[in-house]
Amino acid sequence: MTNTQTTDTQAALSQVSTQLWQELLPHIQYFDKANRDLVELAFTQMVMAHNTDQRKSGEFYIIHPVAATITLAEMKMDASTIVATLLHDVPEDTTVTLKDLAKDFSPEVIFLIEGVTKLSKIRYEGEQLYAENLRKMFVAISKDLRVVFIKLADRLHNLSTLTHLRPDKQYRIALESLEIYAPIAERLGISSLQNAIEDEAFQYVHRDIYNQFVTNSNIEIDRRNKILDRVLIKTKLVLTNHGLAPQKVYGRAKKYYSIFKKLDNKSDLTQIYDLVAIRIIVSNIDDCYYTLSCLQQEFEIINHRTKDYIARPKANGYQSLHLTAYDTESQTYFEFQIRTEDMHEFAEYGVAAHFAYKGQQRGQGSSQFVNTENLKWIKELVDIGQQELSPEEYLAKVRLDLFNDRIFVFTPKNHTIDLPTGSTPLDFAFRIHEDIGSRTIMAKVNNHIARLSDTLKNGDTVEILTDKRQRPNAHWLEWVKTKSARSHIKTYLKRGDRD
Ligand code: MN
Repeated sequence: MTNTQTTDTQAALSQVSTQLWQELLPHIQYFDKANRDLVELAFTQMVMAHNTDQRKSGEFYIIHPVAATITLAEMKMDASTIVATLLHDVPEDTTVTLKDLAKDFSPEVIFLIEGVTKLSKIRYEGEQLYAENLRKMFVAISKDLRVVFIKLADRLHNLSTLTHLRPDKQYRIALESLEIYAPIAERLGISSLQNAIEDEAFQYVHRDIYNQFVTNSNIEIDRRNKILDRVLIKTKLVLTNHGLAPQKVYGRAKKYYSIFKKLDNKSDLTQIYDLVAIRIIVSNIDDCYYTLSCLQQEFEIINHRTKDYIARPKANGYQSLHLTAYDTESQTYFEFQIRTEDMHEFAEYGVAAHFAYKGQQRGQGSSQFVNTENLKWIKELVDIGQQELSPEEYLAKVRLDLFNDRIFVFTPKNHTIDLPTGSTPLDFAFRIHEDIGSRTIMAKVNNHIARLSDTLKNGDTVEILTDKRQRPNAHWLEWVKTKSARSHIKTYLKRGDRD
């Protein structure tokens, strides 16, 4: 490069970096001044490290970490995660080392960057390494869930710039995204990232049908959106007339890949009732049910399709009221989805909502790493990786395990525990330790007293109160779902009989 070229490139970089900072800034306003300064420091270091490096697209490299960071900032992730996302490719792709970064950033940030770096060491180079890469990912997740949030945001941006790669690489990365990354996001309940990853990857994996599929879907979605415009006006009017002032009422279209998956077992688009839906966000649970009853009076409701996911949340913790209505004028079905702001946040961000920044208590300098060593499913995935399996066998097992139903709950100290769907506070207690399980007298779920037999859901924080005089009794067998809790109780009951 001549000197003039270097100067030109530097000038262009400084312009792009200024733009990127202006783009990022509005997304990090949820932080206090100290944390914003920390993010700015990370941004500056990141720009200096990657400097004028370019991506395959010819764009400056620095665009990539910023895009991934914005994705996680929209989810209001804590400062360590945001800083680590900005710096996630620095040790791997530049001369700046983790040790250098450790001078300016906390051990927690360094730990997260290291986790992501370890994962990116192997890049889609043949089946063996692919399987090895996956195993490493599960090891990393088992240490801190936030590593996987960064990895998902990283993958999402890489997918959106896939056009610049060779077709075989495009296919491989997109397929891996649909088979591994999206299911992990789904498992963690992060539907915002799951949907985005699926929709980006879709076109590369199903090239033959993608264009036609999207065209057909769009025609139907457009048709329904027109109907919704009219229904939306009526909905708002109905709610106002009943004295309701919801926080938000809006139409939402279903994502392409999720329509595609649904069509597998349905004949055509007209059979999908929630292709477009009206979402109503209200301030509390009472208003959810009141809204439901108002709509039932004013619209033609298909009663047997009404679903109360508030009283009975889905396995991944999703909560909402769903009701299907029929619009006589257009002879079309559509869906209402009613939920509170909290439920909405959880529906979009799942387990990640638990890691959202909540002021001072989490952020720079927090020594509290998020411990996930109790995640049994991840341990199992790691173990599978250590068996002598062909890459195909390994992937088959991983896929199987990813789709098994499990939930994630938290201890009051933020340790993550995974349990089978349907588990109760008593299962949780036995999972912590059999001595805690057998002495349980009471449980609090999200700070409210709960029955020991209640069903836990994804993201719950569970606290167990014990008393040393407490003993298991035969009823407990009906209250537990896990084999290990059951066998502990049985063992105790037998021993009790003998005594
Ligand atoms: Mn990256």
